[in-house]
Amino acid sequence: MIKVCKFGGTSMSDGTNFRRVAEIIDRDPERRFIVVSAPGKRFGNDSKVTDLLYGAQETLEKGGDFHAAFTKVRDRFTGIVREIGLSFDIDSLLDECEREIQSERSGDFTASRGEYLAARVMAELLGAPFIDARDVVRFHADGKLNGKETFFLVKEALKGKRRAVVAGFYGADSDGKVKTFSRGGSDVSGAIVARAAGADLYENWTDVSGFLACDPRIVENPARIPALSYQELRELSYMGANVLHSESIFPVREANIPIRIKNTFRPDDEGTDILPVEKYRFSGQTVTGIAGKRHFTVIHLEKSLMNAEIGFTYRVLQVLLKYGVSFEHMPSGIDTMSFIIDSSLLDGGIKEKLCADVKEAVSPDNMRVFDDIALIAVVGHGMSRNVGTSARLFSAIASAGVNVRMIDQGSSELNIIVGVDGEDYGRTVRAVYREFFEEE
Ligand code: ASP
Repeated sequence: MIKVCKFGGTSMSDGTNFRRVAEIIDRDPERRFIVVSAPGKRFGNDSKVTDLLYGAQETLEKGGDFHAAFTKVRDRFTGIVREIGLSFDIDSLLDECEREIQSERSGDFTASRGEYLAARVMAELLGAPFIDARDVVRFHADGKLNGKETFFLVKEALKGKRRAVVAGFYGADSDGKVKTFSRGGSDVSGAIVARAAGADLYENWTDVSGFLACDPRIVENPARIPALSYQELRELSYMGANVLHSESIFPVREANIPIRIKNTFRPDDEGTDILPVEKYRFSGQTVTGIAGKRHFTVIHLEKSLMNAEIGFTYRVLQVLLKYGVSFEHMPSGIDTMSFIIDSSLLDGGIKEKLCADVKEAVSPDNMRVFDDIALIAVVGHGMSRNVGTSARLFSAIASAGVNVRMIDQGSSELNIIVGVDGEDYGRTVRAVYREFFEEE
């Protein structure tokens, strides 16, 4: 059995944690290929190394004291190596990085050095070979992952190795220029390595014991989700449950490799398994999890006989396209239609211009815009098997005194999305949690 393990920033934050990670790996000979993030925060208001690097890059671009800014990164790594007690020449490696950052002049290159250095140190600690993601993870010119070439290159690099450490978060384009994934992207790197290694399991080690049924900042001590399907994970992480990067399932999903979320600081806790739907057994729980996000804008249009007007939606969508604005949901009635849009996409005067263009394009009888709408996703395969789920959901919300502004049920019956006023967000999540997790 081959396990690929990815360790997140908190698991890599200091020398003690590097040792903790090495112990976890050494405990199980099946843990063969290791992907690491850059050191994260050690305490509440500490900085992540990646943020220090972005800061250093900004200093460099503005012509400030780059050496001083890079010293903060330097101190983190020299501290880690000292604390572990490794006789490894980290200073020369840091000097080299400092020089290269100044000559490469690329934000992505600079940001990638956190993972590069962390992987170099971890490889040294484990006595395992280091694989530079720059050599094996390939991006297309449009910034998307070149999966085919990447899987081939990673597979070749792993061949014949009992163990190896791969740096997360970055790769390179076809010219060898370093490119990073979006923030949190080491999860994607881990999934790529798992897929290329033909792993039986992708262990994702973090600082929580798995996925929780809802945000612990809203409900105290929510239940852990023991298992969920790839689709449920996708729905929940898209809607804000951020244990895993929302794109990290794609590489493993194609190969049906399960993901297990584990806690580096409580390695014996069970965690959460994320499985292909065929391997997923219905737990009896109607709702698997609840996630949500605030700050959406609803553009609501009314026009009599809208249903008979050919091209109405098309013309609205053309306006959205013109402004490069994507929408999340489009609930519609016979003579009404609403677009739900992430409010940040409409900042800087775009909202006003876009609305004026929509008015001109479709001449609605009425057009209203609501800001600060929160969306709550109630997710679970169990919902499709249970008659009366939505009745329970909406009576729970009604009993909490919350007015529902929008409802959207996916055709797979995997999720129901409820839109409420931003100020009702916490109250709604608590009411839904109580109904499906405390009273079931
Ligand atoms: N270090 C990167 C970040 O802070 C990537 C990662 O940790 O996955 O976003």
